[in-house]
Amino acid sequence: MLELRGVSVLYTRDARPALAGVTLDVAAGECVALVGPSGGGKTTLLRSINGSVPLAGGSIRVDGVDVSTLRGPTLRRLRTRLAMVAQQHDLVDRLRVYQNVMAGALGRWSTWHALRFLIAPRRHELEEAHAALSSVGVPEKLRSLTSDLSGGQQQRVAIARALVQRPSAILADEPIASLDPLLGEQILRLLCRLARERNIALLCSLHQPELARRYFDRVVTIADGMLAVDGAALRAGGAGPAHVR
Ligand code: ADP
Ligand code: MG
Repeated sequence: MLELRGVSVLYTRDARPALAGVTLDVAAGECVALVGPSGGGKTTLLRSINGSVPLAGGSIRVDGVDVSTLRGPTLRRLRTRLAMVAQQHDLVDRLRVYQNVMAGALGRWSTWHALRFLIAPRRHELEEAHAALSSVGVPEKLRSLTSDLSGGQQQRVAIARALVQRPSAILADEPIASLDPLLGEQILRLLCRLARERNIALLCSLHQPELARRYFDRVVTIADGMLAVDGAALRAGGAGPAHVR
Protein backbone atom coordinates (compact mmCIF):
# COMPACT_ATOMS: atom_id res chain seq x y z
CA MET A 1 0.00 0.00 0.00
CA LEU A 2 2.80 2.40 1.04
CA GLU A 3 6.22 1.63 -0.44
CA LEU A 4 9.12 3.93 0.39
CA ARG A 5 12.48 3.22 -1.23
CA GLY A 6 15.63 5.13 -0.25
CA VAL A 7 13.67 8.31 0.43
CA SER A 8 15.82 11.40 1.03
CA VAL A 9 14.73 14.95 1.79
CA LEU A 10 16.93 18.05 1.92
CA TYR A 11 15.25 21.21 3.19
CA THR A 12 18.34 23.35 2.56
CA ARG A 13 21.20 22.37 0.34
CA ASP A 14 23.94 22.67 2.96
CA ALA A 15 22.06 21.21 5.90
CA ARG A 16 22.11 17.60 7.02
CA PRO A 17 19.31 15.69 5.20
CA ALA A 18 16.00 15.58 7.09
CA LEU A 19 15.54 12.08 5.64
CA ALA A 20 18.46 9.95 4.47
CA GLY A 21 17.58 6.82 2.51
CA VAL A 22 14.40 5.70 4.27
CA THR A 23 13.00 2.36 3.08
CA LEU A 24 9.69 1.23 4.56
CA ASP A 25 6.58 -0.71 3.55
CA VAL A 26 3.18 -0.50 5.19
CA ALA A 27 0.67 -3.09 4.02
CA ALA A 28 -3.10 -2.66 3.83
CA GLY A 29 -4.60 -3.17 7.28
CA GLU A 30 -1.20 -2.90 8.96
CA CYS A 31 -0.54 -0.49 11.83
CA VAL A 32 2.97 0.94 11.99
CA ALA A 33 4.13 3.38 14.67
CA LEU A 34 6.87 5.89 13.99
CA VAL A 35 8.79 6.86 17.13
CA GLY A 36 12.00 8.75 17.77
CA PRO A 37 13.45 11.99 19.09
CA SER A 38 12.08 15.40 18.24
CA GLY A 39 13.66 16.58 14.98
CA GLY A 40 14.29 12.98 13.94
CA GLY A 41 12.21 13.26 10.76
CA LYS A 42 8.76 11.87 11.66
CA THR A 43 6.75 14.81 10.33
CA THR A 44 8.96 15.10 7.26
CA LEU A 45 8.39 11.41 6.47
CA LEU A 46 4.60 11.73 6.73
CA ARG A 47 4.60 14.93 4.65
CA SER A 48 6.77 13.38 1.97
CA ILE A 49 4.24 10.56 1.50
CA ASN A 50 1.52 13.15 1.07
CA GLY A 51 3.59 14.82 -1.66
CA SER A 52 4.01 18.08 0.31
CA VAL A 53 7.80 17.80 0.56
CA PRO A 54 9.90 17.30 -2.59
CA LEU A 55 12.23 14.29 -2.55
CA ALA A 56 15.96 14.68 -3.06
CA GLY A 57 16.16 10.98 -3.82
CA GLY A 58 14.30 7.69 -3.72
CA SER A 59 10.67 6.96 -4.50
CA ILE A 60 7.32 6.66 -2.77
CA ARG A 61 4.47 4.56 -4.10
CA VAL A 62 0.90 4.74 -2.85
CA ASP A 63 -1.36 2.00 -4.25
CA GLY A 64 1.46 1.35 -6.73
CA VAL A 65 1.51 4.95 -8.00
CA ASP A 66 4.76 6.92 -7.76
CA VAL A 67 3.92 10.08 -5.77
CA SER A 68 6.96 12.10 -6.85
CA THR A 69 5.93 12.08 -10.52
CA LEU A 70 2.50 13.58 -9.85
CA ARG A 71 1.49 17.23 -10.22
CA GLY A 72 -1.75 19.23 -10.16
CA PRO A 73 -5.00 17.28 -10.49
CA THR A 74 -3.37 13.82 -10.40
CA LEU A 75 -1.55 14.72 -7.17
CA ARG A 76 -4.84 16.00 -5.72
CA ARG A 77 -6.55 12.75 -6.69
CA LEU A 78 -3.81 10.75 -5.00
CA ARG A 79 -4.15 12.85 -1.86
CA THR A 80 -7.78 11.80 -1.56
CA ARG A 81 -6.41 8.25 -1.04
CA LEU A 82 -4.35 9.51 1.92
CA ALA A 83 -6.15 10.74 5.01
CA MET A 84 -4.22 12.96 7.42
CA VAL A 85 -4.89 13.14 11.14
CA ALA A 86 -3.00 15.98 12.78
CA GLN A 87 -1.83 16.62 16.34
CA GLN A 88 -4.07 19.63 16.77
CA HIS A 89 -7.24 18.75 14.97
CA ASP A 90 -7.78 20.91 11.90
CA LEU A 91 -11.56 21.02 11.91
CA VAL A 92 -13.48 24.22 11.24
CA ASP A 93 -14.71 25.21 14.71
CA ARG A 94 -17.76 27.18 13.63
CA LEU A 95 -19.20 24.43 11.43
CA ARG A 96 -21.52 21.65 12.57
CA VAL A 97 -19.90 18.30 13.20
CA TYR A 98 -21.55 16.64 10.16
CA GLN A 99 -20.17 19.41 7.93
CA ASN A 100 -16.63 18.73 9.13
CA VAL A 101 -17.10 14.97 8.76
CA MET A 102 -18.37 15.23 5.19
CA ALA A 103 -15.43 17.47 4.26
CA GLY A 104 -13.78 14.07 3.86
CA ALA A 105 -15.95 13.56 0.77
CA LEU A 106 -14.86 16.79 -0.95
CA GLY A 107 -12.32 14.87 -3.04
CA ARG A 108 -15.15 12.98 -4.75
CA TRP A 109 -17.60 15.90 -4.95
CA SER A 110 -17.82 18.77 -7.43
CA THR A 111 -17.72 22.34 -6.09
CA TRP A 112 -21.41 22.60 -6.87
CA HIS A 113 -22.16 19.46 -4.86
CA ALA A 114 -20.13 20.80 -1.89
CA LEU A 115 -22.00 24.13 -1.92
CA ARG A 116 -25.38 22.44 -2.11
CA PHE A 117 -24.38 20.18 0.78
CA LEU A 118 -23.52 23.18 2.99
CA ILE A 119 -26.92 24.75 2.37
CA ALA A 120 -29.12 21.65 2.17
CA PRO A 121 -27.53 18.34 3.12
CA ARG A 122 -29.35 15.31 1.74
CA ARG A 123 -30.56 12.58 3.99
CA HIS A 124 -28.10 9.96 2.69
CA GLU A 125 -25.24 12.40 3.30
CA LEU A 126 -26.31 12.92 6.90
CA GLU A 127 -26.61 9.15 7.22
CA GLU A 128 -23.06 8.70 5.96
CA ALA A 129 -21.80 11.28 8.50
CA HIS A 130 -23.81 9.54 11.23
CA ALA A 131 -22.35 6.15 10.31
CA ALA A 132 -18.79 7.54 10.41
CA LEU A 133 -19.47 9.20 13.77
CA SER A 134 -20.90 5.91 15.08
CA SER A 135 -17.69 4.10 14.20
CA VAL A 136 -15.69 6.60 16.26
CA GLY A 137 -18.18 6.52 19.15
CA VAL A 138 -19.82 9.97 18.99
CA PRO A 139 -22.95 9.60 16.78
CA GLU A 140 -24.93 11.91 19.09
CA LYS A 141 -22.70 14.83 18.09
CA LEU A 142 -23.92 14.87 14.47
CA ARG A 143 -25.48 18.33 14.62
CA SER A 144 -23.40 19.84 17.42
CA LEU A 145 -21.28 22.88 16.88
CA THR A 146 -17.71 21.62 16.50
CA SER A 147 -16.35 24.20 18.97
CA ASP A 148 -18.62 22.74 21.69
CA LEU A 149 -16.79 19.39 21.63
CA SER A 150 -13.94 18.34 23.93
CA GLY A 151 -10.46 17.78 22.53
CA GLY A 152 -10.93 14.01 22.51
CA GLN A 153 -14.30 14.27 20.75
CA GLN A 154 -12.83 16.62 18.15
CA GLN A 155 -10.05 14.14 17.45
CA ARG A 156 -12.73 11.46 16.97
CA VAL A 157 -14.49 13.75 14.49
CA ALA A 158 -11.19 14.21 12.63
CA ILE A 159 -10.93 10.41 12.39
CA ALA A 160 -14.54 10.18 11.17
CA ARG A 161 -13.68 12.67 8.45
CA ALA A 162 -10.68 10.52 7.51
CA LEU A 163 -12.97 7.47 7.20
CA VAL A 164 -15.42 9.32 4.93
CA GLN A 165 -12.45 9.88 2.63
CA ARG A 166 -12.32 6.05 2.13
CA PRO A 167 -8.53 6.18 2.18
CA SER A 168 -5.94 3.54 1.36
CA ALA A 169 -3.75 4.93 4.13
CA ILE A 170 -4.09 7.10 7.21
CA LEU A 171 -1.09 9.25 8.08
CA ALA A 172 -1.35 10.46 11.68
CA ASP A 173 1.21 12.91 13.07
CA GLU A 174 1.26 12.66 16.86
CA PRO A 175 -2.55 12.42 16.99
CA ILE A 176 -2.63 12.13 20.79
CA ALA A 177 -0.04 14.75 21.72
CA SER A 178 -2.66 17.24 22.90
CA LEU A 179 -4.86 14.72 24.79
CA ASP A 180 -4.59 13.44 28.33
CA PRO A 181 -3.06 9.93 28.57
CA LEU A 182 -6.28 7.94 29.01
CA LEU A 183 -8.04 9.65 26.10
CA GLY A 184 -4.91 9.32 24.04
CA GLU A 185 -4.86 5.55 24.48
CA GLN A 186 -8.52 5.31 23.49
CA ILE A 187 -7.79 7.22 20.30
CA LEU A 188 -4.81 4.98 19.43
CA ARG A 189 -6.86 1.85 20.04
CA LEU A 190 -9.63 3.27 17.84
CA LEU A 191 -7.25 4.20 15.00
CA CYS A 192 -5.64 0.73 14.98
CA ARG A 193 -8.97 -1.10 15.16
CA LEU A 194 -10.46 0.92 12.28
CA ALA A 195 -7.34 0.45 10.15
CA ARG A 196 -7.45 -3.33 10.63
CA GLU A 197 -11.23 -3.60 10.10
CA ARG A 198 -11.17 -1.50 6.94
CA ASN A 199 -7.87 -2.71 5.53
CA ILE A 200 -6.30 0.74 5.72
CA ALA A 201 -2.53 1.15 6.07
CA LEU A 202 -1.84 3.19 9.22
CA LEU A 203 1.41 5.10 9.74
CA CYS A 204 1.32 7.05 12.98
CA SER A 205 4.03 9.06 14.71
CA LEU A 206 4.08 8.94 18.49
CA HIS A 207 6.13 10.16 21.40
CA GLN A 208 5.49 7.16 23.65
CA PRO A 209 7.35 3.97 22.59
CA GLU A 210 5.46 1.90 25.18
CA LEU A 211 2.09 2.83 23.63
CA ALA A 212 3.52 2.14 20.19
CA ARG A 213 4.50 -1.38 21.26
CA ARG A 214 1.16 -1.98 22.96
CA TYR A 215 -1.13 -1.12 20.07
CA PHE A 216 0.79 -1.35 16.80
CA ASP A 217 1.91 -4.30 14.66
CA ARG A 218 5.34 -2.77 14.10
CA VAL A 219 7.36 0.01 15.66
CA VAL A 220 9.85 1.89 13.54
CA THR A 221 12.35 4.28 15.10
CA ILE A 222 13.58 7.28 13.16
CA ALA A 223 16.48 9.44 14.32
CA ASP A 224 18.66 11.84 12.30
CA GLY A 225 16.49 11.04 9.27
CA MET A 226 17.33 7.33 9.33
CA LEU A 227 15.28 4.31 10.32
CA ALA A 228 16.87 2.46 13.21
CA VAL A 229 14.59 -0.46 14.02
CA ASP A 230 11.89 -2.21 12.06
CA GLY A 231 10.72 -5.12 14.18
CA ALA A 232 7.50 -6.82 15.15
CA ALA A 233 5.75 -5.45 18.19
CA LEU A 234 4.31 -7.47 21.03
CA ARG A 235 0.56 -7.22 21.02
CA ALA A 236 -1.14 -6.33 24.32
CA GLY A 237 -1.93 -9.39 26.39
CA GLY A 238 1.46 -10.97 25.85
CA ALA A 239 0.27 -13.21 23.03
CA GLY A 240 3.70 -13.00 21.43
CA PRO A 241 4.79 -11.36 18.20
CA ALA A 242 1.79 -10.55 16.03
CA HIS A 243 3.82 -11.40 12.97
CA VAL A 244 7.53 -11.26 12.39
CA ARG A 245 8.99 -10.17 9.12
P1 ADP B 1 10.07 15.30 13.94
O1 ADP B 1 8.69 15.38 13.39
O2 ADP B 1 10.56 13.92 14.18
O3 ADP B 1 10.22 16.15 15.17
P2 ADP B 1 10.81 16.85 11.60
O4 ADP B 1 10.47 16.03 10.43
O5 ADP B 1 9.89 17.95 11.98
O6 ADP B 1 11.10 15.90 12.86
O7 ADP B 1 12.25 17.50 11.38
C1 ADP B 1 13.36 16.78 10.84
C2 ADP B 1 14.49 17.75 10.54
O8 ADP B 1 14.14 18.60 9.47
C3 ADP B 1 14.84 18.65 11.72
O9 ADP B 1 16.25 18.84 11.72
C4 ADP B 1 14.13 19.93 11.39
O10 ADP B 1 14.79 21.03 11.96
C5 ADP B 1 14.19 19.97 9.88
N1 ADP B 1 13.01 20.64 9.29
C6 ADP B 1 11.72 20.28 9.46
N2 ADP B 1 10.89 21.09 8.75
C7 ADP B 1 11.68 21.98 8.12
C8 ADP B 1 11.45 23.08 7.23
N3 ADP B 1 10.20 23.40 6.82
N4 ADP B 1 12.52 23.78 6.78
C9 ADP B 1 13.78 23.45 7.16
N5 ADP B 1 14.07 22.43 7.98
C10 ADP B 1 13.05 21.71 8.47
MG1 MG C 1 6.94 16.25 14.15
